[in-house]
Amino acid sequence: MKFKCGFISVVGRPNVGKSTLINTLIGEKISIVSSIPQTTRYIVKGILTKKKYQMIFIDTPGLHLFHHRLAAELNYMAKSSLGVGDLILYVVDVTRFPIKEEESILKLIVKSQINTVVALNKVDKSSDYINNYIDLCKKYDSQLKIFKYFIPISALEGTNLDKLEGVLTELIPEGEAFYSKEENTDFYMEFRISDIIREKFFLFLKKELPHSLAVKTIEITDKGKIVYVKSVILVERESQRKIVLGNKGEVIKEVGVKSRQDIEKIFSKKVYIDLQVKVLKDWQRNPRILAELGYKEI
Ligand code: GDP
Ligand code: MG
Repeated sequence: MKFKCGFISVVGRPNVGKSTLINTLIGEKISIVSSIPQTTRYIVKGILTKKKYQMIFIDTPGLHLFHHRLAAELNYMAKSSLGVGDLILYVVDVTRFPIKEEESILKLIVKSQINTVVALNKVDKSSDYINNYIDLCKKYDSQLKIFKYFIPISALEGTNLDKLEGVLTELIPEGEAFYSKEENTDFYMEFRISDIIREKFFLFLKKELPHSLAVKTIEITDKGKIVYVKSVILVERESQRKIVLGNKGEVIKEVGVKSRQDIEKIFSKKVYIDLQVKVLKDWQRNPRILAELGYKEI
């Protein structure tokens, strides 16, 4: 078998067990986060690298919005979000009856026309609604047949995850590993912090978020009682700087506060965060800057 490598979009309602599943599949080390400008923007939730394959589990801004129930924004984002993966891993909680919200996700999946594996999660607790989910998926997918497998699992106890990994491996394309195994944790940490900050801008600015906004974390210093973090926010135009700062600097201030709260959870320590905005014309076309930001072409 040739080496296989695929991007897998993990979708599903809140609390169905997406994070638990990724953690169990990948083990202790939850990795990074990185983001790519424009339509290929995505967030890496974890990378599983084995001898013969690499799976990159990604999360998508469109579905974040969905979680925040900004239904009107959904269609706008959906096209550019679900479509970035090679495969969709759709996680459902079979201990709960599928409610209306589930159907919106199903519609998005079917619209994407991307092969999908359905993980029927939490079977350790009960399997009451397994058939309801299977029937619902089949109802929405009567023509394309993109739902390739339905796998009952317990993300919490690790049940049937080898089976799940097997079908995911089968469905991802052949190709070289996208991330090297050696990529070290500092690198991951920088990305992870940058992405938290970027996510906060996204939540505050929504459609106003400049496509060219990028965050680069240039310093993480443990000073004992406090961790000092310095990040640069890159934009391409002066007008974008104004958006990022907000009226009287309120946007960047709020982003700082919210990011700090998340980053403090990572370090279990107080964090001081220093955010600077830089206007750098055409940075998206500058290979050196792109490389520094960790962007790679896909
Ligand atoms: P997410 O919002 O989809 O990322 O869901 P989480 O991974 O945060 O899980 C939500 C809750 O469901 C947590 O309390 C988990 O412990 C629980 N959970 C996740 N997977 C399972 C499972 O397989 N069985 C049971 N019984 N609980 C689970
Ligand atoms: Mg989660």
